[in-house]
Amino acid sequence: MINRITPHQITTVFSLLEREHKPTMLEELGHYTPFQMLVMTLLSARAKDSTTIPIVREMFKHYPAPADFVKLPQEQLEKMIYKIGFFRAKAKHVKELSKILIEKFESIVPDTFEELTSLPGVGRKTANCILAYTFQKPAIAVDIHVHRIANRLGWLKTIKPEETEEELKKMIPREEWINVNRLFVGHGQTICLPRNPKCGICPILKYCEFGKRRKDKELD
Ligand code: SF4
Repeated sequence: MINRITPHQITTVFSLLEREHKPTMLEELGHYTPFQMLVMTLLSARAKDSTTIPIVREMFKHYPAPADFVKLPQEQLEKMIYKIGFFRAKAKHVKELSKILIEKFESIVPDTFEELTSLPGVGRKTANCILAYTFQKPAIAVDIHVHRIANRLGWLKTIKPEETEEELKKMIPREEWINVNRLFVGHGQTICLPRNPKCGICPILKYCEFGKRRKDKELD
């Protein structure tokens, strides 16, 4: 059974995570333009930040705007990003969305979920990332870290990321939505690792169902 989580418990967890927070890729590169943030978020799907960051830094030095990507031959773009998983499909999406941004949006990245998800290669997670990180609008981007940690904490019991997003939106105060991805991604990359979470040094162990069960087993 899932315990009732109070807004106070949630804000306590967030403030504990905030103390140890290391910037995520989208915070580290948060000074880039909305277009560049959109492209890097799309490219980073199922790729390591350590692979994506140097590639996008170099790429945007030479190709900063949608018009540059429209002109850029697909093969050349693929060559630049080949270390990133699914690079062919991603290169195709970047070129297509650049063209659509020019033709339909005057080269300006839209700031609504519906318009963002109308762009090629932009799904729920990417759209919510752009809303939260770039436009500071209330949105919860559920990636593997957010999904895993919310379930481990015992805040919910979900299978699909869309269910996690829906449940989190019901329980988390709206003003905190913007912090969910950044705090959980940071925590998931450093302490609450997918395979061997470092519960022993976790600042939110006291609030985590999975961590407490694990600790109890060790004491048995
Ligand atoms: S106690 Fe363990 S499982 Fe729970 S959030 Fe911390 S690291 Fe993750």
